[in-house]
Amino acid sequence: MTSFLEIRHHGAVNGVTGSCHELRLADGPGVLVDCGLFQGAETSGTGAGANQLKIDFPIEHIQALVVSHVHIDHVGRIPYLLAAGFRGPIVCTEPSARLLPLVLEDAIKMGITRDKRQVERFVKLIAGRIVAVPYRQWHRVVSDVAAPGQSGVDAGAGAGAGAGAGAGAGAGAGAGAGSSIDIKFQPAGHILGSAYVECEVKSAGEKHRVVFSGDLGAPHAPLLPAPRSPYRADTLVIESTYGDRLHQGRRERSLQLKKVVERALRDDGAVLIPAFSIGRTQEILYEIEGLIHRYGDDKAGARRWKDLEIIVDSPLAAGFTKVYRELRPHWDAEALGRVRAGRHPLNFEQLYTVGSHAQHQSAVNYIKNRGHPCVVIAASGMCAGGRMVNYLKALIEDARTDILFIGYQAGGTPGRAIQTYGPKGGWVELDGQRFDIRAGVHTISGYSAHADQQDLVNFVRRMQVKPQQIRIVHGDEDAKAELRRKFQQLVPGAGVVIPT
Ligand SMILES: [Zn+2]
Repeated sequence: MTSFLEIRHHGAVNGVTGSCHELRLADGPGVLVDCGLFQGAETSGTGAGANQLKIDFPIEHIQALVVSHVHIDHVGRIPYLLAAGFRGPIVCTEPSARLLPLVLEDAIKMGITRDKRQVERFVKLIAGRIVAVPYRQWHRVVSDVAAPGQSGVDAGAGAGAGAGAGAGAGAGAGAGAGSSIDIKFQPAGHILGSAYVECEVKSAGEKHRVVFSGDLGAPHAPLLPAPRSPYRADTLVIESTYGDRLHQGRRERSLQLKKVVERALRDDGAVLIPAFSIGRTQEILYEIEGLIHRYGDDKAGARRWKDLEIIVDSPLAAGFTKVYRELRPHWDAEALGRVRAGRHPLNFEQLYTVGSHAQHQSAVNYIKNRGHPCVVIAASGMCAGGRMVNYLKALIEDARTDILFIGYQAGGTPGRAIQTYGPKGGWVELDGQRFDIRAGVHTISGYSAHADQQDLVNFVRRMQVKPQQIRIVHGDEDAKAELRRKFQQLVPGAGVVIPT
C-alpha cells in the first residue's frame, strides 16, 4: 500500500460481526466504513464486544461514516459513535437511507433505552445526519485537511449533493492540501440498499483506489440483481463469511425448502426460521410465494400447500417488508416479472404479520397447543434473543417441529449450538434453561444472502485491474485461510493479508 493512506480494522477481524473499518490519510482525516454491533463471543480485539459496545478507538479525525448496508452488525454501534462525539455525516445509498432509521430505532430500544422520548430524539438526530447518495455517483467525504477535532463536513450541506460536494473543510496541516477521499456506491446484491464502496484517495498528485466489499450477495439470490466487480482496485478489503464453502444451487435449495415445508403439512408441525428482519426474511417470503404459486393445490398428507400459513412475527420485519415493496425499482428482472404477472411476491394471501407482544404470546401458545402447518419467521437470526427464542422454548422439544437455518450462525450463539448439536440429539441452553433438541434441524446455505467462495473469487477475477493488496476480514479463521490460498493463486503478486 502507499504511504499516504492507512487502513485500520476496528471490528470483523475476529469473526463476522462488529464490522468497522477506517480509511485515513496518513496522520490526517479519515472515514469509517460501517460501525456494527458485535454478537456472541466475537470482539474487536481491543476490548469492545457484545458486552462492551463503547467506541474504543480515536474518532477526532473521522470526517464521515460510510454505511455499506443496514444490517445491525454493520450499523448497530452508530448510537455509540454519536455518543462518543462523532459529528460528521452518515453517508449511504438511497434505499439504506430509508431503512437505517428503522433499524437504529429498534437497536436503540433493544440496547440503550426504552424511554420513548429519548428514542425519538436519538432517531431524529441520526436521521438529520444521513446523506443519501445515489448508486454509481462519486461523492466527496474528505476534502483537504481539517484541523483535528474540527468536523470538516456539515451534514445539512451535504444532503442530496452530488459529486465533489458535501465536505467543506478548510485546508490545514497533515496529509496536505489537495488531499481527498471520494466514495462511490455500487450494488452489492446482499440486501436492499447494500453496496460495496469504491474509494478514490488522492494526495500530492498520487491516487489510490480502495474497495470495501461490505457484504457481497450471491448471484442467484432472490429479489436483487447480482453484484458486478469494479473495474479496478489497488487495495481490496473483502468479507469472507463463506470463504471456505460453496452454496447449494438455486434448484437444490428450493427443493430442500419444499421438503421441509411438506413435512410440516403432513404432521401439522411448525417450521421455525430464525432470520434477520431484513434481507433473508424477504428472500424467504419471495421463495415461499413461488412454491405456493407453483404447488398451491398439491397435497402433502391431508393438507394442501394453500393451507400453509406464513407468520412473520416481528413488527420490524413487517416494516422492512413494506419498504422492500415500496422500493420495487431496485428489484431484479425476475421479481418484476412476477409483479407484471399480477402476483404479490412479498404480500400474498397466506402471509400474516404479528405485531404486539400479546399477539406474539398467543401465536406461540396457539401453535404449541393446537398444531398447525406453518412457517414462522422471527428474529434473532442467530437465536440469541428476540421472539424466536420463545418459539424455540415452546417447540424445540416437539418432534413435529423443524428448525431451518438460512443464515450464518456465529460461534457462541444458541443458533450455532442448535445447528451443531441438534442433529446429534443434543441439547441447547435458552434463557438459562436446558432444552433437548427433538426438532428436525436443517441448514440451507443458498439463502444466506452472502457470496460463497466461488463468488468471492470471481469478484476479484473479474476486475480489469487487480489489487496489489487484499485484506480479508469478516469470517472465521478457516474461511479466511482458505480464501487467502485462493487469492494467492489468482493474483500471485498481491499481498494477501489477514488483519488481526
Ligand atoms: Zn449483511
